[in-house]
Amino acid sequence: MPCTEKRARLLLRQARAVVHRRAPFTIRLKDRSVADSALQPVVLKLDPGSKTTGVALARAADTPDGSVHHALHLAEITHKGALIAERMRKRAQARQRRRTANLRYRAPRFDNRRRSAGWLTPSMRSRLDNLLTWARRYGRWAPIHSIELEHVRFDTQLLQNPEISGAAYQRGDLYDYELWHYLLEKWGRACVYCGATNLPLERDHIIPRSRGGSDRASNLTVACRRCNQDKGDRTASEYGYPEVQARARVPLADVAAVNTLRWALRNRLQALGITVGCWSGGRTHWNRVRFGLPKTHAIDALCVGQLVGVRGDDVPVLGVRAMGRGAYCRTRYTRYGFPRGYLLRQKHVHGFATGDLVRAELPAGKHAGVHIGRVAVRASGSFRVGTVDGISWRHCRLLQRADGYEYAWKGGVALPPQP
Ligand SMILES: [Zn+2]
Repeated sequence: MPCTEKRARLLLRQARAVVHRRAPFTIRLKDRSVADSALQPVVLKLDPGSKTTGVALARAADTPDGSVHHALHLAEITHKGALIAERMRKRAQARQRRRTANLRYRAPRFDNRRRSAGWLTPSMRSRLDNLLTWARRYGRWAPIHSIELEHVRFDTQLLQNPEISGAAYQRGDLYDYELWHYLLEKWGRACVYCGATNLPLERDHIIPRSRGGSDRASNLTVACRRCNQDKGDRTASEYGYPEVQARARVPLADVAAVNTLRWALRNRLQALGITVGCWSGGRTHWNRVRFGLPKTHAIDALCVGQLVGVRGDDVPVLGVRAMGRGAYCRTRYTRYGFPRGYLLRQKHVHGFATGDLVRAELPAGKHAGVHIGRVAVRASGSFRVGTVDGISWRHCRLLQRADGYEYAWKGGVALPPQP
């Protein structure tokens, strides 16, 4: 069960616990087992993004009004999707050259390549695997009771039938947020009249309200302020855009609300055997604005789901960056493509591998002092720790083995304090 820093310090000082991991800092109690411990249900909350995913561990407390989530741990996972795409491109180029160098051009005979169902691009696979890795890890370290996932960008079904869904979904604030996310997706996040994307967009009535146009999604589009005012009380057809008016009547298909990654993520998380709650991005946004919180990935994750409030005591955010586990290629190239040098065959040097978290204590010299960070090993035994180069392996002590991620603590976020 996640505890405060002070409690962890006391448990360690009394030798009732041992350090299990440095990042995220995890201790293991020696004098108690799960069977004789009182655990509260912990919710794992995920807000998947293409570059960064917000993660929150929260304790759910039920109040008469609804559920309040107390933040216990916040993290932001930075993916390496762009790096993977770049490496795949380089590999394809190298193979292309190897196949065609010194040969005349021959047209491809036929395309017999097939992709299996549910295939994801390598960069998307890496994002998915990162999230599953962390869901499993948190499941080992904390009593995860359920997972709350931002699964869709907006709630299409409820948008089509706002009346069926109860008081919370009447034409209130939440409806507006869901509607706005829906409109942005449907109209491609650009002014439908002039195509501007770098301006603030606003909702535009295709048939103006002054002429009996409704507030339903089928009569709304997104436009920049200038076009919106220029259009005035004309319909989109009269303004010269009949295609906009025709497209407005066609609702956006449900599939557009969910991207491939989020579908795959939901299915794989459900396969872990934990209850997965699926929520829309519109609701997250609505919650965050209602609670008056700034936009960060971790806070977005905390705001996922059906909530009446979030609490927390200056919870720091753990930055987790996907680094991989080294490359297969052993040759270093100059920028002209000539081999410059060769990397080591073996991963370990004096028991250290590149990526291990180490503590180096230098007694003297230019860099005298303590350095903690990821190590980069050399066969000579002269390592780099963090940004300091030329540290002998004799001064290094292993803190945590490389596990494919780099860790850094970011400042805390101000949340309403726990009562
Ligand atoms: Zn415009």
